[in-house]
Amino acid sequence: MNIPMLDLKAEYALLKDEIEPAVCAALAACQYIGGPNVKAFEAEAAAYAGVKHGISCASGTDALLIALRAIGLGPGDEVITTPFTFVATASTVVMCGAKPVFVDIDPRSFNLDLNQVEAAITAKTKAIVPVHLFGQPVQLAPLKALCEKHNLKLIEDAAQSFGADYAGRKSGAYGDIGCTSFYPSKNLSAFGDGGLIITDDDALAAELRVLASHGSRVRYHHHVLGYNSRLDEIQAVILRAKLKRLDGFNNRRIAIADFYNRQLAGAVETPFADGHGRHVYHQYTILSDRRDAIQKALTDAGIGCAVYYPVPLHQQEMFAATHGDVKLPVTERTARRCLSLPISPMLQDAQIEAICGVIRNALK
Ligand SMILES: *Cc1c(COP(=O)(O)O)cnc(C)c1O
Repeated sequence: MNIPMLDLKAEYALLKDEIEPAVCAALAACQYIGGPNVKAFEAEAAAYAGVKHGISCASGTDALLIALRAIGLGPGDEVITTPFTFVATASTVVMCGAKPVFVDIDPRSFNLDLNQVEAAITAKTKAIVPVHLFGQPVQLAPLKALCEKHNLKLIEDAAQSFGADYAGRKSGAYGDIGCTSFYPSKNLSAFGDGGLIITDDDALAAELRVLASHGSRVRYHHHVLGYNSRLDEIQAVILRAKLKRLDGFNNRRIAIADFYNRQLAGAVETPFADGHGRHVYHQYTILSDRRDAIQKALTDAGIGCAVYYPVPLHQQEMFAATHGDVKLPVTERTARRCLSLPISPMLQDAQIEAICGVIRNALK
């Protein structure tokens, strides 16, 4: 058997006839930076998300960094976020000179434990950065209420949840700023790196553009320390084609998750959808005390699987000096028991049955 964790080849075969001529046309047009496809994609992505402004940039990491800079984050400030995420959620806070404060997660949704957030707020707290982990929307209403009460900004890390929705808003559109990534494994993905920042706030949008463009409002006049962070024309062509298919792909992910749930019921702890909004299953992540045995059986059978994330951020070496004594038991236990299974939209039902057969066998 050979079932990859992420089947980009099958997706490419599906999109080839549309994407290849469009990429060639962009190559011939020679407007490689700030070209018409970048502008069109920003407008189309903002319209999709239901916000006024979409500012493209070079990666999801840059989207977060630029968003944090735009709210004025700096030395002495704190940002509350989750330890169970990709490192960029917190490393960008450190890049601004500020300190990430990790709050433990909910054992079932894997998202921030909403009951523990307020106790972590101090006079230094400037923002809350929830992550819609694995595509499941965080309940944002209680977080927004906390932000209003304590005068904080809400920045959504929607890198894994583009196309999810919550309370009638698309993921990333509910907070002050939303950040997403087009890394090849994400739900909306490029053929390389890319990112997008979305907001309804005109002043923040202007600041985000200045920061992404060398801190310049007027060409060759630099007002603040900025970045060279752009989406390129070729990636914009690809993203425009894929944005049209995003809802279809996400629906297929939801159907796959449903099928897995039925096949795996009783064998492992299947993912818990908390019912708040639409979970778009960036990952399908199970929990089991026998995680390592399942992982080995799948690997031996030629089936991709992965542990997201084996080391929670508060236990990463890079945070040892600042967070060495932090204990977050739910996160630590989850990191020992979680396993993500293949969930590309191209996955076939017969493949899912085969994967579940291997898992059930491993647990016999
Ligand atoms: C992928 C990811 C990022 C970073 O995006 P890049 O485009 O790889 O820089 C940030 N946060 C989360 C939660 C991610 O999954």
